[in-house]
Amino acid sequence: MMIRQPENTSRRVMIANRGEIASRVAKACRELGHTPIGLWTDNEPEATHLQFCDEWVHLEGSTNAETYLNPEKILKVAKENNVDAVHPGYGFLSENADFANLLTQNGIVFIGPNVEAIKVMGDKATSKKLANEAGVPTVPGTDGAVPTVEKAIEISNEIGYPVLLKAVAGGGGRGMRACANEQEVRDNFEAVGRESLAAFNNGDLLVEKLIVNPRHIEVQILADKKGNTFHFFERECSVQRRHQKIIEEAPSPFIGDDEEVRQAICDTAVKLAKAVNYDSAGTVEFIMAEDKSFYFLEMNTRIQVEHPITEEITGMDLIVCMIQAALGDELGIPNQEFITRSGHAIECRICAEDPITMLPAPGLVTGFETNFPQGTRFDNCLYKGLEVTPDFDQVVGKLVCKGIVRDVAVRKMRAALNGLFIEGLKTNIPLLKEILREENFCNGNYSTAYIKEVAPQDRVSTEFNHHRFYTILAGVEARRMGI
Ligand code: ADP
Ligand code: ADP
Ligand code: MG
Repeated sequence: MMIRQPENTSRRVMIANRGEIASRVAKACRELGHTPIGLWTDNEPEATHLQFCDEWVHLEGSTNAETYLNPEKILKVAKENNVDAVHPGYGFLSENADFANLLTQNGIVFIGPNVEAIKVMGDKATSKKLANEAGVPTVPGTDGAVPTVEKAIEISNEIGYPVLLKAVAGGGGRGMRACANEQEVRDNFEAVGRESLAAFNNGDLLVEKLIVNPRHIEVQILADKKGNTFHFFERECSVQRRHQKIIEEAPSPFIGDDEEVRQAICDTAVKLAKAVNYDSAGTVEFIMAEDKSFYFLEMNTRIQVEHPITEEITGMDLIVCMIQAALGDELGIPNQEFITRSGHAIECRICAEDPITMLPAPGLVTGFETNFPQGTRFDNCLYKGLEVTPDFDQVVGKLVCKGIVRDVAVRKMRAALNGLFIEGLKTNIPLLKEILREENFCNGNYSTAYIKEVAPQDRVSTEFNHHRFYTILAGVEARRMGI
């Protein structure tokens, strides 16, 4: 009998990112037997992700433009280090088709989808057009850039107010402005175009109907290079400030046990992914109106910040699958029915920001302690001495709790937030604590207007409960000493 020797399939994977996602990717590489190669820059020589990497490479420079946003420099160090594949994480160059193309042209695998899919989905106009053609419902409005303010007004009058002016190249919640009437379209059109040109190097705008009190619901997709496309159910991300998510959960409390709607939105996402020949992990975002009708918003052709909650309810490792898909390896998923879900997971984004104004608050971490309930997951980049600068994303960690039902996940999250201490840095933890106790949130009754209308930030107490703080710290100390 012949014994099959395991093939030597170990690859050298460079991670072109920093922060919590770089650690997360490095761990997945190690698990797969690949060699994770971490990058460090002049201003972050002690970055946490390096401890999960087998090799460290200096990416000279300190600004993002000189380092993580510099395709040529990353290609150069990748070549010098005989890298087989590059994982871009999220943000930075993760949705940059030119970067993906540059790597591919140089024989290096880009761990993400094919260049064409990035291009089509990277632009809110071309992606909307493709969705329309594929029979996927989109928000009423244009599916191409509006050339003039007069045209924008004409379309707005047609679809009815309020409308949203939206940068075709926008992202991260930026490049959007709601307009209540014709005058506001007239007043804002040029300014939004100008801001978008400055931020995204593209001033083109779409006009679409502003859906009132909608839910943000998105579907996780995973596809391989062999023609298999799967969904991993939905996430709800309606708790937002400035069109940016703060809390995400899976499954969606708004869809609840309406399996018909769940099936419909998941099937629609798969249909769209297939229409663009998608071949990696990605997310199709929708906006859902009060009557549960839903419209395609955009597709993010990368791993998303909130992917852990999907991992928690499905038991699948999305980063591992994404790496396998890119390298042409087997995913080991026989069919869609193989992917099941159980329980409920919630993620809180821990941000370096003022908990009341919710504005970024850069600073220095002088201490960091955790005392979590059983089963808590905390993906983070924190260490004593970490300096959060305005250059980097304000998310310093992602706290994830799971329960057999939503109430249990909420209860665990309250306890986890109480057991997270970040010293020296202003964070949104006090705000998250308020939300997790607030009645509407606890009942799963919220839309994207939650922060504006319920305003939990107004209840954040600036008073510090010393007694509670020291009791918990004593617990941390006792645990450390094995008491
Ligand atoms: P980004 O690329 O910045 O993430 P999205 O198109 O995904 O942009 O929208 C971000 C958020 O803005 C959504 O989650 C939602 O809260 C809000 N939004 C976007 N489009 C609409 C719309 N037509 N009506 C109401 N809210 C919208
Ligand atoms: P997710 O969609 O994964 O929840 P976000 O929309 O919050 O994530 O964006 C994740 C990261 O990517 C953030 O750092 C955000 O600022 C950045 N980002 C997303 N889209 C863009 C873009 N088009 N241009 C610049 N940064 C972006
Ligand atoms: Mg989005």
